[in-house]
Amino acid sequence: IVSRESHKQDTIIDIGGIPLGGNQIQIIAGPCSVETQEQMDLSAQFVHEAGCRLMRGGAFKPRTSPYAFQGHGAEGLDMFRKAAEKYKLPIVTELMDARQLDTFLEYDVDVIQIGTRNMQNFDLLKEVGRCNKPVILKRGMSATISEWLMAAEYIAAGGNHNIIFCERGIRTFETYYRNVLDVTAIPVLKKETHLPVIVDPSHAGGKAWMVAALSQAAVAAGADGLLVEMHPSPCDAWCDADQALTPQELKKLMGTLSAIAGAV
Ligand code: PEP
Ligand code: MN
Repeated sequence: IVSRESHKQDTIIDIGGIPLGGNQIQIIAGPCSVETQEQMDLSAQFVHEAGCRLMRGGAFKPRTSPYAFQGHGAEGLDMFRKAAEKYKLPIVTELMDARQLDTFLEYDVDVIQIGTRNMQNFDLLKEVGRCNKPVILKRGMSATISEWLMAAEYIAAGGNHNIIFCERGIRTFETYYRNVLDVTAIPVLKKETHLPVIVDPSHAGGKAWMVAALSQAAVAAGADGLLVEMHPSPCDAWCDADQALTPQELKKLMGTLSAIAGAV
C-alpha cells in the first residue's frame, strides 16, 4: 500500500485543513516535552509568530533513564490542547502505548507520533492502523529502509493510509553528534513511496547550532517538512535542552527555508 507502485502521485495528507506532502512543505515546531501551561502557551505563541502551522510537544516521553522526567501524560495533553487552541495549531504528540490511544482520541490529537524506539512495535502499529488519524512514523535508530517501509505497511494494512515518514538520524560509529542524519534516505523514500517524508534535524544532530544546516540540507534534498524542537527558554528545558532552538532562531530558520523551498 505504501509503495510508489501502488500509487504514482505524491499523497498529500490533510491535517485539520493543513496540507502536508506534494509541494506543501510544513514545519512542525515546539518543545521536546510539555512542561507547564505557561511554557506551552508561550511555545504556541512563538510557533505561530515564526509562521509554523503545526505544533509538537511530548506528554508521554520515552526517556533512556527511568529516573528522568517521563512526561505529564494525559495532563500534558490537556495543557497542549489548551495552548494550541488559541492559534488553531494542530498538535503532534508521541504515543508509546496502545492503552493510551483512547486518551489521544479524547483530546483529539491531530497527528500521532510513533517514536524511533517503537518503529517495530507491531502491536502499537496495528492499533494506530485502525484509527484514521495522521501518523508520523519515525525511523528506528538502527532500521533499514525496507524495515521502515514494512513498519509503515503495518499501519496501512489496518486501513490508515495517512502516514508521514520521519528521518531522525541513525546510529553509526560516529560519536561527535547524537545521530547521523541520513539525507540519502530522503530521495530513496520519495522514490519508494508516495507518502510524505519529513526530517527531524533536532534529534539527528542533538545540538541547536546544527539544526539550521541540517534543515536546509533536508529541504534541498526534497523533504516535505521538518519536525523541529523549539523552547521559549532552551537552557531551562526539562528535556533535550542542548538541541532546542530559541524562538528567534526558529523565526530566522523559517526565512532561510522559504528561500530554499522556493529554489527547488
Ligand atoms: C521526540 O521527537 O520527542 C523523540 C523522542 O524523538 P525520537 O523518537 O526520534 O527519539
Ligand atoms: Mn526531544
